[in-house]
Amino acid sequence: MGGFFGVVSNGDCVDDLFYGVDYHSHLGTVRGGMAVTNPYGSIIRSIHDISNEMFRSKFGPELEMFRGAKCGIGIISDMDDQPLLIASHLGMYSIVTVGKLNNIEELTRQAIEEHHIHFAEHSNGEHNPTEVVASLINTQKTIEDGIAYAMHRIKGSCSMLVMADGKIYAARDRYGRTPVSLAKKPGAMAVSMETSAYPNLDYEFVRDLGPAEIVLVDAESATQLKPPEETMQICSFLWVYFGYPSSDYEGRNTETVRYENGARIAARDGVEVDSVCGVPDSGVAHAIGYSNKKGRPYLRALVKYTPTWLRSFMPQVQSHRNLIAKMKLLPVQDQIEGKRLLFCDDSIVRGTQFRDVTRRLLERGAKEVHLRSASPPLAFPCLFLNFSRSRSVMDLAARRIIAELEGGEPTPEILREYITAGTPRYERMVEKIRQKLGLTTLKYQTIDQLVEAIGLPKCKLCTFCFDGCDPTGCAKWIGCACPAHDGDDAESKSEPKKA
Ligand code: SF4
Repeated sequence: MGGFFGVVSNGDCVDDLFYGVDYHSHLGTVRGGMAVTNPYGSIIRSIHDISNEMFRSKFGPELEMFRGAKCGIGIISDMDDQPLLIASHLGMYSIVTVGKLNNIEELTRQAIEEHHIHFAEHSNGEHNPTEVVASLINTQKTIEDGIAYAMHRIKGSCSMLVMADGKIYAARDRYGRTPVSLAKKPGAMAVSMETSAYPNLDYEFVRDLGPAEIVLVDAESATQLKPPEETMQICSFLWVYFGYPSSDYEGRNTETVRYENGARIAARDGVEVDSVCGVPDSGVAHAIGYSNKKGRPYLRALVKYTPTWLRSFMPQVQSHRNLIAKMKLLPVQDQIEGKRLLFCDDSIVRGTQFRDVTRRLLERGAKEVHLRSASPPLAFPCLFLNFSRSRSVMDLAARRIIAELEGGEPTPEILREYITAGTPRYERMVEKIRQKLGLTTLKYQTIDQLVEAIGLPKCKLCTFCFDGCDPTGCAKWIGCACPAHDGDDAESKSEPKKA
């Protein structure tokens, strides 16, 4: 997915930038980057591979070269090199983006054929999405118009920071899928995806940006350049999994939502267990909520080995992911033997990890192993963020089981039954997954209950990976044949500005 942070200050901003970016390390695994405007007005930048090392240890030794800068942006990126430095008719600027460009081929082809633009940044044979966004910005007369134009052209999602002339343009994704907020302290303003970056740097949260909103940030204020649009589709998975516990999005704290979500699962669960456990780390808060509601003790039958496994995300290669997932979790024999254990996890993606965990727990003498998924079954790969970049439909446990039960791909109507909680087909799918994972019982949170736990109206939340619902029409444009929502095609409602 990735996460960014930017700061404009009347004094040296380098420490705030460094730690502010570092507080996004849970959102990406591959690249870290920082760019600053130095006291002479030039932009300097550094990018490092952080796949095997922490952001702090890579950038710490070179902070001195940034010293004296009053404006900077940085990113933890899930795949591509960022920030980019762009020299164009708009002047010299630096840019970071977070999102997913589903129409990147069309955008690059058009840029090359119609505007004779060339692209310099490639990795693994793919265009750098941030460079493609910059090419769209550069088709317009101002950076502000360029950002608005880029947001209209992109199918998928894109939030960004653009640093130019010692100020930062901050823009939140057109449908607000990723969060962006503003914060202030005397003599400095910050913009961040995670509000968890603010308190230890002494920033006071000011406000969230709205969908498609663009602001220009200096050390004293943020000037609105483009007001927000109405349609909001913020990722509901932020509260389930991605988001840092101390972060708030749209006024809803992640940790609090996870407690509430776990409590809501417990309230409808008649199973009797000895202890409630969270699958570390992302299942823990849901499990605490479950445990408090149920009145059963929260204990740790599995602990995470953290001294050397610092990264929160996993490698792309599945066999490496399985091995690392196993090596990270250590069983606590005393808390397992003879116990009826109930685990909460954030979600069940492939299911392979928990199948192995269940087997190991039963081998160690657990009497029963129950699993509660804090999210509904994942039925559609995410089209809007890069967290499931290499994931096909058949990577998802629910879809594999549905195909197995139906003897192939189901019709949209049948698929709808499978993803609707309480229908006979839904129950059959859950039972089949339970059998495959070797569990005593298995339950998933429902979409309605998750939405209530988050506390925002369903129409403001993206729930696409659970129900295929996409009121923006983006999924339809991409060719998704989901049965859930024909949607109003937002493209036809608002014409993009002509280049
Ligand atoms: S599809 Fe799922 S993961 Fe992707 S933005 Fe929507 S809710 Fe988030």
